[in-house]
Amino acid sequence: MRVNAYAAPSAGEPLAPTTIERREVGAHDVLIAIEYAGICHSDIHTVNGDWGPQPFPVVPGHEIVGTVQEVGTDVTTHRVGDRVGVGCMVNSCGECDNCKAGDEQYCRQGMVGTYAVTDRDGTTTTQGGYSTHVVVDAGFVLRVPDGLEPAAAAPLLCAGITTYSPLKHWQAGPGKKVAVVGLGGLGHMAVKIAHAMGAEVTVLSQSLKKQEDGLRLGADHYFATSDPDTFEALADSFDLVVNTVSAKIDVNAYLGLLAVNGTLVNVGAPPEPLPVNAFSLIGGRRSFAGSMIGGIAETQEMLDFCAEHGIVSEVEVISADQVNEAYERVLASDVRYRFVIDTSTLA
Ligand code: NAP
Ligand code: ZN
Repeated sequence: MRVNAYAAPSAGEPLAPTTIERREVGAHDVLIAIEYAGICHSDIHTVNGDWGPQPFPVVPGHEIVGTVQEVGTDVTTHRVGDRVGVGCMVNSCGECDNCKAGDEQYCRQGMVGTYAVTDRDGTTTTQGGYSTHVVVDAGFVLRVPDGLEPAAAAPLLCAGITTYSPLKHWQAGPGKKVAVVGLGGLGHMAVKIAHAMGAEVTVLSQSLKKQEDGLRLGADHYFATSDPDTFEALADSFDLVVNTVSAKIDVNAYLGLLAVNGTLVNVGAPPEPLPVNAFSLIGGRRSFAGSMIGGIAETQEMLDFCAEHGIVSEVEVISADQVNEAYERVLASDVRYRFVIDTSTLA
């Protein structure tokens, strides 16, 4: 099946319209008519070559919401017409200890990313959601609960789960002080989710430009990291710091904000190393950790949690021909707070 898409032809080149081939619907597959695709900063890192060479042309997009158009003969979990979502992975081995534990993102054979990786057939390259249709194994298709507005739900499939998973793992909740570094796509979801979990939430942004928004989204406090007093005022205070920044930051300065036993979890994925001084950790039995998206069952749990708490992303819906402009704005930290492509504009 030949479908319309938007692709990066090579590293750093603007995205342009194209067509791509989608596989036949197999027994375990679901054909999804895509309605919306969020723009994650990971899409930009990938097509700009920040993370190394890529199998161009690359169709990015791993925050996908649409409706089921066809299901394979063995599929019992999804029906034609259902509203569904697909996130950052479309397959895994399903047999290793990590897959069996529901951590498919840490599959020992490597999870199959939604775009720019070799699929499990060993030959085709996966292509993402900036497209009108996608065929995905039913086990990696999520139910989008009724009541979640589809465009605003799309970013939950990456920004939502990537922040929900560490917040849950490190037990954000009543009595816990959580700081969120960077108020972009991931950051604004972290604020909403941590607030809904009952934690006391502080935003650490480069400036106070978005303070009003941050407080409206659920933060209790808001500080500018450009102000050196911030690091003195907040020293030794947080149980958990979630770093969502897409660029290199001075991790040691942020480790100094942790209370004894506190954890700084990095979800931001800058291409440069983030050097850590031993003394930033040993003085307060502090941890420096990382986390990558979340498993499939946990992603469903997150979607249900968001439906229950009325949480969606703050989105700016754009047409496909505005993608390159949106990339520039994300790179300039000028996103409030997620661009989402209306894929009907690709038709
Ligand atoms: P985003 O929307 O661009 O948000 C990043 C925010 O970081 C910006 O809005 C800005 O917030 C802050 N920032 C940007 N440049 C900065 C700099 N030089 N110094 C300090 N702060 C800066 O990006 P995103 O989509 O949320 O993604 C964030 C990062 O997470 C990316 O690296 C992405 O690849 C990664 N990611 C990781 C996973 C995972 O599984 N671990 C999943 C998805 C994405 P302020 O304006 O508030 O300062
Ligand atoms: Zn993402």
